[in-house]
Amino acid sequence: MSVSVTRTRSREPDETGAAAVDLARDAVAAVAGAAAVGDHLGVQPDGERVVTHLFDCLDPAYPGWRWAVTVARAPRSKTVTVDETVLLPGPGAMLAPDWVPWQDRLRPGDLGVGDLLPALPDDERLAPLVLLAGDDAVLDWYDGEADPASAGTAGSPELPAAGRSRVLSAAGREAAAQRWYSSEHGPRTPLAHAAPAHCASCGFFVPLSGELGRLFGACANAYAPDDGRVVSADHGCGAHSEALAAQASARSVSPVIDEFGYDLVDLPGVSVEETVFEPLSRGAD
Ligand code: SF4
Repeated sequence: MSVSVTRTRSREPDETGAAAVDLARDAVAAVAGAAAVGDHLGVQPDGERVVTHLFDCLDPAYPGWRWAVTVARAPRSKTVTVDETVLLPGPGAMLAPDWVPWQDRLRPGDLGVGDLLPALPDDERLAPLVLLAGDDAVLDWYDGEADPASAGTAGSPELPAAGRSRVLSAAGREAAAQRWYSSEHGPRTPLAHAAPAHCASCGFFVPLSGELGRLFGACANAYAPDDGRVVSADHGCGAHSEALAAQASARSVSPVIDEFGYDLVDLPGVSVEETVFEPLSRGAD
């Protein structure tokens, strides 16, 4: 039988091992079934007296994959034995896409009721409040924090009244407040009940100015279901900026190996269905 040699390394493959094509084929056929083993694709040296034979994989579930059978022999021996058989991807193999960490896979709208999405300590979308002192963008809230009675009024920058001849009346404010509070962006929703904390303590909560700012603000978290909507201060969701407690549980965990469970599988010539199992007799010598 002619053997093509794949020169992946400078070493020449061991001649005796390279000739053991039939042994390698029989080994992989015993594991995968003869129908799943195709042409011999070559042999490559792995070390002194150790070579790996490659066979085309004909299993339709693994296009482009190859069976790799490593064989070896002892010094001064002509007897070749099989080390292992594995299925390896070839150059054109169909592979799963690269794994992407969950925080990179996540998209706005993925967060559901009961889910937690803590903001990382270095999340660039958040900054300690003290760093923003003097920032016009947070002046209302900052002043309101210092003096609740003056929320949304004292310290607020003067807004030009251009284009508006009328503004929201007290009745209009009241109606809006009732509507918003009883909507799905208020406190009585499954999302809010499952939240780790209220919007009032969330860094993504941007309070409205004026009277409505006492109870309402806009959610500015792209990953929150309410992003861009008016939410009540006692609403909430799992993307709360301080939901750090959940961070530990989001870390990857070690795989669990079950050493007690087992699966029944067919072996060449032995069918599980036709096998009669008998209980082990206890106390037998
Ligand atoms: S809805 Fe969620 S993310 Fe948005 S402000 Fe409230 S707690 Fe924060």
